[in-house]
Amino acid sequence: MPMNSERIKRLLTKENQQGDYVLYWMQQSQRIHFNHALEYAIMLANEYQKPLIVLFCLTSYPKANTRHYQFMLEGIQALQAPLKDKNITFIIKKENPTKAVYEFAKQSIHTIFDMGYLRIQRTWRNELFTNFKNNQITTLDVVESDLVVPIKKASDKLEYGARTIRKKLMNQYLHYLDDVNINQVNQSLKKDYDSLDISNINDVLSTLNLEDIPSSKHYIGGENNALKRIKQYFKEDINNYPMSNDPSLDNTSKISMYLHFGQLSSTYVIKELENLHQANKIATKAYESFLEQLLIRRELSFNYVYYNKNYDDFNFITYDWAYQTMDVHILDKREYLYEIDDYINFKTHDEYFNAAMKQMVKTGYMHNYMRMYWAKKIIEWSHTYKEAYDIIKTLNDTYFIDGRDANGYTGIAWCFGRHDRAWTERNIFGKLRYMNANGLKRKFNIEEYVNQMNKL
Ligand SMILES: Cc1cc2nc3c(=O)[nH]c(=O)nc-3n(C[C@H](O)[C@H](O)[C@H](O)COP(=O)(O)OP(=O)(O)OC[C@H]3O[C@@H](n4cnc5c(N)ncnc54)[C@H](O)[C@@H]3O)c2cc1C
Repeated sequence: MPMNSERIKRLLTKENQQGDYVLYWMQQSQRIHFNHALEYAIMLANEYQKPLIVLFCLTSYPKANTRHYQFMLEGIQALQAPLKDKNITFIIKKENPTKAVYEFAKQSIHTIFDMGYLRIQRTWRNELFTNFKNNQITTLDVVESDLVVPIKKASDKLEYGARTIRKKLMNQYLHYLDDVNINQVNQSLKKDYDSLDISNINDVLSTLNLEDIPSSKHYIGGENNALKRIKQYFKEDINNYPMSNDPSLDNTSKISMYLHFGQLSSTYVIKELENLHQANKIATKAYESFLEQLLIRRELSFNYVYYNKNYDDFNFITYDWAYQTMDVHILDKREYLYEIDDYINFKTHDEYFNAAMKQMVKTGYMHNYMRMYWAKKIIEWSHTYKEAYDIIKTLNDTYFIDGRDANGYTGIAWCFGRHDRAWTERNIFGKLRYMNANGLKRKFNIEEYVNQMNKL
């Protein structure tokens, strides 16, 4: 199926178009494979008989540190040779996109943005759009490549939970499992432009003034690594996915960091999932449960950040019943109180929590079930809910390679009731869902998880 044209939205049309090249500002979709925005930009370049510039801006991003930049730059490095092979000029600028993209767009006949959903991504795009419009700079399209169902097609409002968005996504998603063909660009760019040398990532990092968090030895960035990982997962482990709640079993895909940086397309992954299920290579239970996470839960998260502009402000993350129950229980006695340094140094009384923190700090990842348990414990061990929220968000966005993601903001909000329901009233949590160590012991081989994390 060719690219679904509903992924493309025309934002500006410039009359009497002229320009030296087509420009694609690559930001959210940092890949070649299954990148609809890139496919479209190549198609336009060949239609206009113009060269194509792909521009990437290396700029300070709120809360991103050396761990994140290392992973991202590994991915960007890996794009250089294959883009060149396609006769595409890849330019890296160490500059704010609102400046660099604007400058390049002045000579562009047609400019493409990929779609971004978080606040800063939308601010960059809005500012550029306004400046393009006011100065009649270029024709502009935005292309959605990082969700299966484009955000507004999925829903035009903030959804209450998985149960309210599921049907909307399930009714449409097959229609969006399109193919992506990355062709050769016919025309070459004659002029030379300066591009940042990123051959030595350490040198680049040292110029960026970032918080220094050691990079992960467990996860290496780049679309080839992403594709290798998902292919291997579908070949060897996917049929164990229905048991993947057990943290001691290594049964999840670990693709979240690749999805976060746009190094992997969820449309591609779901397309493969469908094909393998139809070929009886993936059991129905595994297929359904993986689809539930990657399609329903992930796209619900994007719905949350897109339609709630205060998605990371404690005062706006959850429902009235949840705020009311927290008000009722704010003065409940807390048996344990910890500071953020106790968590980072694995110094709580709870060995399961400490093990989860080790996974987070040392590898840049944590198992989903432990993410829930971890955040619930911080709620239990903080003076206030707001303090807990701030600590969870800080740790989440500092240590997870996949941090600062729609899934992160939503996952944390879920711990405070968002997309969940009211439970039986209890101390500190009120009607918020409670999780305890006995649950871990009862359901899983949690001691085995602790052993594994202690070996890290
Ligand atoms: C408190 C808390 C914080 C979280 N922080 C982040 C974060 O910073 N970044 C992040 O990407 N995810 C976050 N999550 C969601 C989820 O834990 C991770 O996406 C998942 O653990 C990633 O591992 P995986 O790729 O092996 O997942 P798999 O289980 O193999 O699932 C495949 C994909 O489905 C999606 N998915 C799986 N579980 C969820 C979920 N619960 N919600 C939404 N999408 C899901 C993800 O895209 C994931 O990569 C958080 C969840 C909680 C409860």
